[in-house]
Amino acid sequence: MTDTHLEAEDEHAENAAGEPWRDAEIPDEDVALETDSVSKHYGSETAVENLSLRVREGELLTILGPSGCGKTTTLRLLAGLEAPSEGTVHIEGRRVADADAARPPNERNVGLVFQDFALFPHLSVAENVAYGIADASDEAQAGRVEELLDLVDLAGFEERDPSELSGGQQQRVALARALAPEPDVLLLDEPFSSLDVRLRVEMREELKRILSAAGVTAVSVTHDQEEALSLSDRVAVMHDGQLEQVGPPEAVFENPESRFVASFLGHAGFLSGNIGEETVETQVGPIPRTQLTGTVEPYVGAMVDVLVRPDDVALAPAVGEPDGFVTRRQYTGPSFVYDVELANGDRVRCRQNHTESYPVGSGVDLELVADHALAWYPTQS
Ligand code: ADP
Ligand code: MG
Repeated sequence: MTDTHLEAEDEHAENAAGEPWRDAEIPDEDVALETDSVSKHYGSETAVENLSLRVREGELLTILGPSGCGKTTTLRLLAGLEAPSEGTVHIEGRRVADADAARPPNERNVGLVFQDFALFPHLSVAENVAYGIADASDEAQAGRVEELLDLVDLAGFEERDPSELSGGQQQRVALARALAPEPDVLLLDEPFSSLDVRLRVEMREELKRILSAAGVTAVSVTHDQEEALSLSDRVAVMHDGQLEQVGPPEAVFENPESRFVASFLGHAGFLSGNIGEETVETQVGPIPRTQLTGTVEPYVGAMVDVLVRPDDVALAPAVGEPDGFVTRRQYTGPSFVYDVELANGDRVRCRQNHTESYPVGSGVDLELVADHALAWYPTQS
């Protein structure tokens, strides 16, 4: 094991101790794909800004962000369907794009899977899979098609037409087709968005299995946080054309470094309060300073917003003056999710067992039940 590996291990140890997580430097020899300060402008519009990212050999990295934040543009820049306005892209150590020149997709050895799968309707399943390896001998093509249809669990479907397949099966074919030429990097744009909810969850597991069996490096993009968190080795959260945070799913979820990441992941709410010597005074009572992440000292006397997720707070019927009022109630089966507006205007969300029910408009008291460190952000004025 190299020294750099050991440092990376240390960084994880520090995270376990509750320190904010920082993206560990990926050693040069492990980098499959790298962008350095990449921007893409369309006229006065900036779709991607100053994007620097390293993707590790064999990992699945998911770019996660709301609609319009620049995910598809990023993927198109990696694929060679767009040229960067500034910055460079390297794949397997080879420079494939800078501000002066960009290699087209067929000179990058990348595989592409789009959200609509884009299978060729007039070609059979086998012909679709063989499409990218037409230069190989018939025998080699047939061998590779068989191997890949096995991998995606579609052995025996060689002669079918795409129109005879279900959405999930079409996606498997699209994956097999993209993997056939043994790409250095597989790029997937919202690969599950055209599948129904049940199939989406099933295909997530399948994609993970297929990518890991193929041993391919992959970059996917999605706006679906559950998909990104459950599927990926690392998640890169994107907002307004820029990366906000990159890291393993748990690290990004538990230690969001910005207010945007915090509120985008996990339906978060915030409790505002003044940092005192021992506690933060909030509408629902004091929070010990020791329960806050990171270094609080420089902020004593300042207003901060403490991140609380639906499982961090519990509701009770109001005793006397209520802490707040229920503004929305959502039934999810095993639980209710309540939006509560506090007297000072703070909004929090709370998950409660379905056996307890508070109608909209109920006065409620809130108790902080989180037993973990809480992230916080200086209040924006
Ligand atoms: P996402 O995939 O995250 O929804 P996109 O990468 O498609 O976001 O778009 C990011 C921003 O760039 C949007 O504001 C979009 O309108 C703009 N954009 C994308 N492609 C073009 C284009 N070809 N011309 C002009 N603006 C574009
Ligand atoms: Mg998109």
